[in-house]
Parts: sequence; structure tokens; C-alpha cells
Amino acid sequence: MASRQRVPDTFKLRCMRLISRRAFVGMSASSVVAARLPLFAQSAEAERPVGFAAVGLGTISNIFMHGCAGSQAAKVTGLVTGHPDTKGKRYGQLYSVPDTSVYTYETFDRIRDNKEIEAVYIGLPNSMHCEYTVRAAQAGKHVLCEKPMAISSAECRRMIDACKSAGVKLMIAYRVHYDPTHLQAQQLIRSGAIGEIQAFEGAFGFNAGPNQWRLVRKLAGGGSLMDVGIYPLNEARWLTGEEPVSFTAVPTTRDKTSGRFAEMEQTLDFTVKFPSGIVGAFACTYGADMPGFLRIHGERGTLELNPAYNYTGTHLVTLGRRQGVDTQSPESDNSYQFKLEAEHFAHCVRTQAEPTTPGEEGLKDLMAIESIYKAAGTPIG
Ligand code: NAD
Repeated sequence: MASRQRVPDTFKLRCMRLISRRAFVGMSASSVVAARLPLFAQSAEAERPVGFAAVGLGTISNIFMHGCAGSQAAKVTGLVTGHPDTKGKRYGQLYSVPDTSVYTYETFDRIRDNKEIEAVYIGLPNSMHCEYTVRAAQAGKHVLCEKPMAISSAECRRMIDACKSAGVKLMIAYRVHYDPTHLQAQQLIRSGAIGEIQAFEGAFGFNAGPNQWRLVRKLAGGGSLMDVGIYPLNEARWLTGEEPVSFTAVPTTRDKTSGRFAEMEQTLDFTVKFPSGIVGAFACTYGADMPGFLRIHGERGTLELNPAYNYTGTHLVTLGRRQGVDTQSPESDNSYQFKLEAEHFAHCVRTQAEPTTPGEEGLKDLMAIESIYKAAGTPIG
């Protein structure tokens, strides 16, 4: 899928070794599980698409459902909405979901009796993630939940416990973990291509319009850190495999007149320090269209993902070198990363594998977010 690639042979060799090791580990895990099924049932079961109910039919659920429609592994089989007669009918027709599989928030628990619904995708305001994850788990359904996982680490723990007790899978929808461009950055770092990481720089933001749940603390739980600052924070944790131990943060609000920021900061700059000594300096905002990027500075080179957090066109380059990586995702479909994450989760459901972004990953981000807001002097929760 890579276009405009100019990858030195040593980089390529290291990547190939890593990819084949990864593929081998994945294959052996699924083949162990497959061996437990009778032979005739193995291929039919493995190929049956996993049925998802989309919970909350807003912007992100719309993209997720489109991703499922383009996949052989995932299928929209249920809808949960406060507007069954309008949105429910419209999406029902689009994805061939019968009226009997359209639920409201009040009738949600009845998904328990619907065998076509094996999993839910939660695309609700942040403060509703915990309740609907717990209710879905109690109904015996696997849960793919949008980021941020919840509005506090205590809620994240409740969600993990509920899914464990019910024996269902829980995955947080960190879509870039499934994007080949980001995976290439991870492989290059692991292969030692840029040496020991020293520091990260990153940012993400947009100019938020008024009158939306994101600006209401009760629904959002916090400001732009919960929504967009979480991207570079999560990726630094992912790429280092470390958990940050110290934090600084500076919140600021320049717009004091529109009323948009009555309940949260407009902009937040923050730093994190990992146990190895790696540091990260990040910015996020609801006050400007701040393009998402991540720079990873190593002792032997710098990688830059820019754009890093768009739905399409993610771009990885090596900075300051004549020979290096230059890979841009050629994908133009907004739902590409959502299709990949849905397929990963479907694979986990079918093979009993653990998602690569389980609930624990969301919990660790919330723990870091709580520490950052505490350092900012504006604790959440
Ligand atoms: P949205 O406002 O477009 O959709 C939210 C949905 O929840 C709507 O259908 C709305 O009707 C419903 N809803 C139910 N109860 C509500 C209430 N009390 N108040 C407001 N809406 C209510 O939001 P969105 O942009 O789709 O975000 C939903 C979730 O997805 C958030 O957690 C957000 O952080 C996450 N998200 C993820 C990505 C990503 O790239 N992974 C991108 C955007 C949003």
C-alpha cells in the first residue's frame, strides 16, 4: 500500500524480519484456537462476519458503519439511537438492518436476545461509554468502545471488570494502531533504525463550534486533551512501551467572550517523562485547526508522522537524512482505519485472541490524562 517509498535495504530487511515474526506469532495463536473446533465448522465460523450494533448514530458511528460495509469480517446488524423513526430508519435501510434490530437507549438491554448482534460499537459522548459498555457486557456482547475510554480511571476499571466477569472482549478504538503507516513507524523504532528515542513532539486540535457536548464537562469529562491531545499521548506510550511518571501542563483560554470555554480550557500544552528518561512535549486545542503530527527524535535520526491523525493520507518521513523513509497512505476512504480496527476486533472475537488495544490501554491513557490535568491545576473526575 506504500507509495513514494524510498526505503534503504537495511530498513527493509529489519522490517521484513519483524513482519514475519509478527505474522508467525498471530498465526500460531489462532491455529491453536481453531484446532478446538471440528474441521467442517472451522472455515465457516472463521469466515462468518461479526455482527455489530452501532450505539449512538453520530459522526463517528457513521464512518465506522461505512467501514463495516466495506469489510467481509464485520457487519452492521443492530442500531441504538434516540431517534429510531428517523436515524434508525435511514441507517436501517442503508445497512439492511430490520426494524426489530433497532433499539433506543431505553430498550438497549434487549440486545441480549438478538443473536445477530455479537458486539457493540460505542460512538457516544465520553461520559456515556462506561454505562453502555457495562450494559453491553451484561447482555453478553463484546465491546468496541471509542476513545477516550471513559471520563475517569475509576470508570475504566469498572468497564474492564464488567467485561471480564461477563467473559466478553473489550477493545478501545485507537484507530492509528491499525494503520500501516503508524505500524511502519513502530517497526522502524523497534528495529533500532533511529537508535534510542530521546524525545517526542506532537500536537492535534481543531476550532470547536459552540453548542456541542464536547464543551459540556458533564458529557466530555475534560477538554481537548480527552478528545485530541490523547492521540500523541497514546502514541508516545505505545511506541515506547513505557508509562509516563512525571507531568507538567499549562492550560490557557484566550476566548473569554463567546462562552464556549466556560467549563474547560481552550488550549493545553503538556509534557510527560518516561522512566527511561524519554520526554514528550505536546499541545492540543479546541481553539485552532492544529494539524496532527508526531515527531520522534532518536539518537540516529528523526521520524515524522505528518499528517498523523487524519483519517486518510497519513505520511511517515525520516527528517534530515538523504536516504530514509517516505511513505504516504494512498487511502482516500475516510473509513479505512475504522475498517481495519473492526476487522482486528472481529478476528479477536472469532479466534479468542486479545485485542492489541484492550481496555487496559484506555485505562493507562486515562491515568496519564488525570495526572496531566492535576499538573495543570484543573483536576478532573
Ligand atoms: P457526535 O456528536 O457526532 O455523536 C454522538 C452521538 O451520541 C449522536 O448520535 C447523539 O445523538 C448521541 N447521544 C446520545 N445521548 C447524547 C447526549 N446526552 N448528548 C449528546 N449526544 C448524545 O459525536 P462523535 O464525534 O461521533 O463522537 C462520539 C465519540 O467518538 C466520542 O467519544 C469521541 O471522542 C469519539 N470520536 C472518535 C474519533 C476517532 O477518530 N476515533 C473521532 C471523533 C470522535
